[in-house]
Amino acid sequence: MPIESVEKIWMDGELVDWADAQVHVLTHALHYGSGVFEGIRAYPTDEGPAIFRLREHVKRLFDSARIYLIDIPYTPEQIFDAIVDTVRVNGVESCYIRPLVYLGYGEMGLNPLPCPVNVSIAVWPWGSYLGDEGLRHGVRMKVSSWKRHDPNILPPAAKGTGMYMNSSLAKVEAIKAGYDEAIMLSPQGFVSECTGENIFVVRDGRIITPPVTAGALEGITQDSVHRIADDLGVPYEVENLLRSDLYTADEAFVTGTAAEVVPIRSVDDRELGEPGPITRKIQETYFAAVHGRDDRYREWLTHVRA
Ligand code: PMP
Repeated sequence: MPIESVEKIWMDGELVDWADAQVHVLTHALHYGSGVFEGIRAYPTDEGPAIFRLREHVKRLFDSARIYLIDIPYTPEQIFDAIVDTVRVNGVESCYIRPLVYLGYGEMGLNPLPCPVNVSIAVWPWGSYLGDEGLRHGVRMKVSSWKRHDPNILPPAAKGTGMYMNSSLAKVEAIKAGYDEAIMLSPQGFVSECTGENIFVVRDGRIITPPVTAGALEGITQDSVHRIADDLGVPYEVENLLRSDLYTADEAFVTGTAAEVVPIRSVDDRELGEPGPITRKIQETYFAAVHGRDDRYREWLTHVRA
């Protein structure tokens, strides 16, 4: 689906017209994937649009930059405010938000340290990443032949732009084979995560998700599911999972800011069927939280018109 444009993009401290948000072809990040980014969402609430867990996303952006020794020329508070401003000026009720920190134009070669650091923030309306049908009835997953990063090859804790070439390889393989999304294993063979989502199974009434040591990003939606599970009284555990654990799960689902909470319908053609009760309840509570319909989660919302 093509990106739906809005009016303004924040670039290095200024709000520029959408069409003018351009970079030079010799921008370092275009050549070497030298950037870090975030994916955030704003949802409509009774009090206007609200950004979900903005503080945590800004923190992860700065942590990603720190891992790559990229010095962001703004404070976290400035980036936080710039994100709120960008949502506000574009007058959108609901949107995806993409802050990007990237090494810019000026130097080439693999030593990134002398490069200028640029920052942009774009927002646009974006429907459910894995589709409405997937949200309701579940998605069909394939375990990828491509492995997730080893933490000493590319650190999964950082949302580095270049590392998503690995996700793309797996995503394309899954789509070409007729599936919706790929599940990636760690180099050691444990279940890691999906191309842009964390993964969970439900077994005997417990929710289980793989640890970061299996190469998964510490997802903010994953953390929201943890809190929701605690509030619902559903045991939540972080444990290594084998591929066969996916096949025999009572229920399974994936989470991510773009994807939201999406049931898994089948893994490698082993049918799990229609979404189960725990997945449904987590999904329902998550949507109530992001739309400001559940007071327990109000601290997660940053109201844009406040
Ligand atoms: N894993 C990867 C590789 C991702 O790119 C994402 C999306 N940021 C996630 C997991 C889910 O993270 P979050 O819930 O914070 O969006």
